[in-house]
Order: sequence, then C-alpha cells, then structure tokens
Amino acid sequence: MAGRRRPRSRALSEPLVIVGNGMAAARLVDELVKTSLGRYAIAVIGEEPRLAYNRVLLSSVLAGETASHDIELRSADWFRDRGVTLKYGCRATEIDVGRRELKIAGDESIEFSRLVLATGSSPLRLNVPGADLQGVHTFRDTRDVDLLLTLAARKKPVVVVGGGLLGLEAAYGLAKTGTPVTLLHLMDRLMERQLDAAAADLLKTLVERKGIKVMLNANTARIVGETAVEGVELTDGTLIHADAVVLAAGIRPNTALARDAGLSVNRGVLVDDAMQTSASDIFALGECAEHRGICYGLVEPAYEQASVLAGHLAGRSAAYKGSVVATNLKVSGVSVFSAGDFLGADGSEAILLSDVKRGTYKKLVISDGRLTGAVLIGDTADALWYLEMIRARKTIAAIRKDMMFGRALAVQAKAA
Ligand SMILES: Cc1cc2nc3c(=O)[nH]c(=O)nc-3n(C[C@H](O)[C@H](O)[C@H](O)COP(=O)(O)OP(=O)(O)OC[C@H]3O[C@@H](n4cnc5c(N)ncnc54)[C@H](O)[C@@H]3O)c2cc1C
Repeated sequence: MAGRRRPRSRALSEPLVIVGNGMAAARLVDELVKTSLGRYAIAVIGEEPRLAYNRVLLSSVLAGETASHDIELRSADWFRDRGVTLKYGCRATEIDVGRRELKIAGDESIEFSRLVLATGSSPLRLNVPGADLQGVHTFRDTRDVDLLLTLAARKKPVVVVGGGLLGLEAAYGLAKTGTPVTLLHLMDRLMERQLDAAAADLLKTLVERKGIKVMLNANTARIVGETAVEGVELTDGTLIHADAVVLAAGIRPNTALARDAGLSVNRGVLVDDAMQTSASDIFALGECAEHRGICYGLVEPAYEQASVLAGHLAGRSAAYKGSVVATNLKVSGVSVFSAGDFLGADGSEAILLSDVKRGTYKKLVISDGRLTGAVLIGDTADALWYLEMIRARKTIAAIRKDMMFGRALAVQAKAA
C-alpha cells in the first residue's frame, strides 16, 4: 500500500523474539523499528488475548473515564506494516538456552538469535485463609477490569486491600459508581513509599471526602465466607462485611521462565547496564527485570530501558544507569505527585507549604543546592518542571526563593 514502509528481506534478518506484549515490549518494538528495521525479524509472543495496551489507563477505564478499546498502543496494521510478527493469546513456556529456542504452549517452538524477556509482574495474592474464595479479585489486566466493572454495577460493599497507588485507584473507580468501599492498608499511612506523613494524612482526608472509608494499620487475618466472600476479618478481630475483595497489595516480577532456564534471578531477572541477563543474547526489561538491585514497578523506567536496549541491539554503545522515579495518582479525584527523595535524607532541607482546608500540600527537598525530591498534593501543575529539575541535578540558587510558587513565578523572577 502507498506510503507504507517495507521491511528489508526477512531472509537477511536475525530472529529477535520478545516474550510479553505489554508496555515495555511495545516501546522496545517502537524503538527497534526506528533504529534496526530490517536487521531483525521481530516476533512478539504475548499471553494476553489482545494487542498491547496502555496498562496505566486501566484505572481510567475502571473509573469510566476511558473506553477499553481506546487504550491500545498500536494497531495490528502498524505491526504488520513493519514486518513484526505478533502472536497474542500465547504463553511462552520454556527457553532452551543452548538450542536458542523458545517453546510456546501448544507445543510450537520458535528459534531466536536474540531473546528479550518483557513478562512484567503479577499481583500478589494474600497468603491468608479465604484468599481463593469466589469474589476475590486483582487489578492488573483488562480481564480484571471487566470483572471489577461487573462488580461495580452491583453496588454491593467491597473491601480493597492496599493503600498504594493501585489500591487507591481501584477504590476510587469503584466508589465513583456508588459502590460502598472500605480501603484497608497495613501501614500507618497511605502511599508510604511515595509520601511523607503530612502528605499522607492530607491524602487520607481528601480520599475520605470522596466517600471511601480508609482503615490504617489494618492487617487482614482472613477473608470470610463459605464459597464466596462475605467479609474480611482483621488480626485485631474487626470484621468488615463485604461481597467482594480487591487485592492491590503489591506485585511480584514474572521470573519463572528465566529461573527455569537457569538465568540468574533475584527478585527480578538480573540484568546489567545493557539490559543483558546472565545468558548472552538474552535480555530483560520492564517490571520483570532487576537492575542494580531495583525492580521498578512503573512505566517510565521500562521506557528508558527500552531505549537503551534498542540502542544496544542496534550496535550502539548504550548503558542504563537507573531511573529517578516519579509517581502520580491519575484518578483518585485528588492530584498527587511524588518524585525523588520525598522524605529528605540526612543533611537535606525542606521547603513546605501546607493548607489543609484548601487541600494542598507542597514539599520541596533540597540537598547540596539542588532539588532532590518533591511531594505535591492538590496542585500538581508544576510537577513535570520539578521532576526535570530533580533529574537534571542543576543548582537552584537563582530560583530558590521563588521555586515554591511554581514555574511561572520563578522564571519571571529569574528574568527580572
Ligand atoms: C491499574 C494500573 C495502573 C497503573 N498506573 C501506573 C501509573 O500511573 N504510572 C506508572 O508508571 N505505572 C503504572 N502502572 C504500572 C505499569 O502499568 C507497569 O509498570 C508497566 O505496564 C510495566 O510494563 P511491562 O511491559 O514490564 O509489564 P506488563 O505491561 O505487565 O506486560 C507484561 C506482559 O507479559 C505477558 N506475559 C507474562 N508472562 C508471559 C509468558 N510466559 N508468555 C507470554 N506473555 C507473557 C503478560 O501477560 C503481560 O501482558 C499501573 C499498573 C496498573 C495495573
């Protein structure tokens, strides 16, 4: 068809197989077609029965703000036009490292010269009695969201376990439909990995204003019910009536394929700065990978890794040195942003602005004359500006006195 790019003859191309058709895989393909179209015959093997989609937007789908079919990252035509073979609804079951073969459920196998693992993570199931009862859900993929939407339509009480980003977004999506929601969190504050105590307190107040009941220090002892969920019992004996439970209490990298193949695995599949695993020509990226002791649970690091890996596969020298991560709640009805050293390490100082009545909180952490962390609640308009400053590690002396009041004022004052 006119205007379509033709891949070079596949006979000359090396077979590059990507396991997983999620966000990291999709970005890697995007990068590879820019840098190495024709060098590799790319095949993507994905277990989910649909094209790669923007998983981050599942929260918006649950909250009724986006349609499920609108979150696809690329069309089937896009892949086909670039000569990428897509197999979805197929689970890769085994890597034969010596023979350079990947086995796929149903006895098929596919040869590779380079293999990339982009298998993501799975939600943690709670290790408590009742965790397998009917009515216990997770929040990871389209199928989960379809089930949660059915649940929301019934408007029966639901307990969400986990007061991190996922749990808050699940709770909000359900509460928005009129479902009575109780959010249980094991720790003494919400989003403890992203927020300091004052910010978490304010977030709790704002979330409760949305009609969500929040219980902190809430340790689930068991999920109660005969065959289906009837409630949740906490270790202090408190019983909360519920018709369903949503588990959003963490994720575990999908490493079984790598581990069974004899690759080095810790929490995630171990990779070096070129995203290479312990086996040559086998790489890993995204949530399944562990780099310098860190398994990232966010999309931005996966995209940075995809860019480095594509460079490496294109023959350029490229190294991934780790990411400065930022988190923002998209659909809690409350704007929240956190990046970098949000607590403030020893020797750092913090500039604070807190207005509980208006629902705003701002904390900027400064160390060695540089912005090293930020927490914003309520007004997050300048979040990206702060994030760029944290990443650039530039000195902030010229704007320090005004930076708390936002980009517009600080830039104006600097120019004056
Ligand atoms: C509801 C929700 C909201 C989120 N919000 C944010 C956010 O606001 N910001 C943010 O940065 N991140 C967010 N995340 C996290 C973000 O989606 C992930 O970090 C990102 O998707 C990771 O990409 P990945 O490709 O590593 O894994 P995934 O996107 O999970 O893709 C992995 C794919 O591999 C497939 N797979 C696994 N094993 C096999 C196998 N053996 N064979 C074939 N296929 C296999 C899986 O089925 C899956 O499709 C959110 C996640 C969820 C669930």
